[in-house]
Amino acid sequence: MKFYLQVSVTIKIIHISEVLLMPIQEMLAHNKRFVEQKQYIRYETDSFPNKKMVVLTCMESRLVELLPRALNIQNGDVKMLKNAGAVINRPFGNIMKSILIAIHNLRAEHVVVIGHHDCGMTKIKPNEFIQNMYKNGIKEETVAFLERSGISIEEEFRGFKTVEQSIQQSVSIIKNHPLLPKYVNVYGLVMDPATGKVTLLSHRD
Ligand SMILES: [Zn+2]
Repeated sequence: MKFYLQVSVTIKIIHISEVLLMPIQEMLAHNKRFVEQKQYIRYETDSFPNKKMVVLTCMESRLVELLPRALNIQNGDVKMLKNAGAVINRPFGNIMKSILIAIHNLRAEHVVVIGHHDCGMTKIKPNEFIQNMYKNGIKEETVAFLERSGISIEEEFRGFKTVEQSIQQSVSIIKNHPLLPKYVNVYGLVMDPATGKVTLLSHRD
């Protein structure tokens, strides 16, 4: 009985470590082949975006390949920024700074913010999110300490009601930014994550 128990425990440990290491091991092995076979040659380009465009979109995994294919974006064509929801909420936050760098240093003249239907950011519920943190081992004291220090978890991780509204708001922050040159065009799009079809949102300041 004791012997069987030991065997089953050993098998379980090996199984868990394989699951944890497999994706990165697979990536590293692929990378070795990619470089050795000089597969990078077809992607050679420079740092200036060919379409003079910056794209801000969601980190949504359904869009990783679909978005560039659906919009004919090739390597070297655009500066691509991603976050959860394609959201800009601070005029001097990292995303807006990246957009300004793309414009002033890298010759971008068009900014396109692309949200998508069925976005996880429309489903974020602050209470559930905090409960998930606790389940993942974050201590309640830590959250309480942050709240006392003026960092509201609820405020920092809040989602949005509709993707259209959120994209319009981000577009508005970009358009009204004091450091945005007059010649820059700013657009808001919403993509269907199943078909790649986009809808151009009408301009609203
Ligand atoms: Zn999303």
